[in-house]
Amino acid sequence: HAKSHERGHCVIFSREHEALIRDEHQLEAALRHADLDAELSLVFQPIYEARGIVLTGVEALARWQSPILGQVTPDRLVAMAERLGMINQVTLILFAKALTEMARLPREIGMNFNLSVHDIASPETVQELIRMIAASRIAPQRLTFEITETAVISDCAAARAVLGRLRYLGARIAMDDFGTGYSSLGMLHQIPLDLIKVDRSFAAGMTTPSGRAMIAAIRSLAQSLSLDCVIEGIENEAQLMEVSLLGCRYAQGYLLGRPVPMETLLRTIREDRKNGQTALAAA
Ligand code: C2E
Ligand code: MG
Ligand code: MG
Ligand code: MG
Repeated sequence: HAKSHERGHCVIFSREHEALIRDEHQLEAALRHADLDAELSLVFQPIYEARGIVLTGVEALARWQSPILGQVTPDRLVAMAERLGMINQVTLILFAKALTEMARLPREIGMNFNLSVHDIASPETVQELIRMIAASRIAPQRLTFEITETAVISDCAAARAVLGRLRYLGARIAMDDFGTGYSSLGMLHQIPLDLIKVDRSFAAGMTTPSGRAMIAAIRSLAQSLSLDCVIEGIENEAQLMEVSLLGCRYAQGYLLGRPVPMETLLRTIREDRKNGQTALAAA
């Protein structure tokens, strides 16, 4: 009996495995044949200065509406684009859209844009980003490029040079998802950085004593390196309170705002200004 059970289990596993492989093939085909300019878009999630709950910037997040697969998450899009050698192209298409949308935002609001490790490893891509910024008449000071620890680890010297060029323009560099995955504390002072974004897994535990201690340690590390600090994944009032108590400057998360199309964001900004307060303060 046990044996047939095991065999049954095995069959299920291999079907699941097959399904996974089929999904990957479908994703690959859909991406190869995608009309990227038409199918890719950006949504924008607000980033607030935590103390006064003042909107200071937004993070641009990719959305892919595939006519074959429907909505595909950006994690899957990016991973497949990297595998197929299409990520540079995807990045440049998204960045063009980001600059266009940015022109619609009030000047004091900045925009964060995510870069892949393969973008940082490609001098031509970075050159093109720089050319696009110059052609856009958007002040580079309004831009923050988000990179991940893995992106930096893979080639520290090259990353430093490329990030230095973006920073020389006046753009800022943020370390995204800080505290996850690869331990690269030593890297923090070796690459040009302005900001760390503390991964949302830390926000989830920040109202417990040990969770608070973790954030306090990250925050003091950031402070000693003169880096600003964003806590990601703020989902409730208690967490938002902690952000200010711990002296972290910025907060981002569903409590403060979900990623939305530019049209919706602009409407919210207009309404907030009319009321002379933020949506949250009014709530
Ligand atoms: P990320 O850069 O760390 O972006 C934050 C992710 O957390 C977003 O997911 C956002 O919707 C989600 N998030 C924000 N606040 C909350 C919250 O309070 N609770 C929870 N549970 N989640 C929250 P999204 O849009 O699915 O993006 C996932 C990842 O895909 C991003 O993580 C980023 O690594 C990557 N990505 C997105 N857009 C791009 C892009 O244009 N280029 C590249 N290279 N990567 C991108
Ligand atoms: Mg990010
Ligand atoms: Mg993040
Ligand atoms: Mg992430």
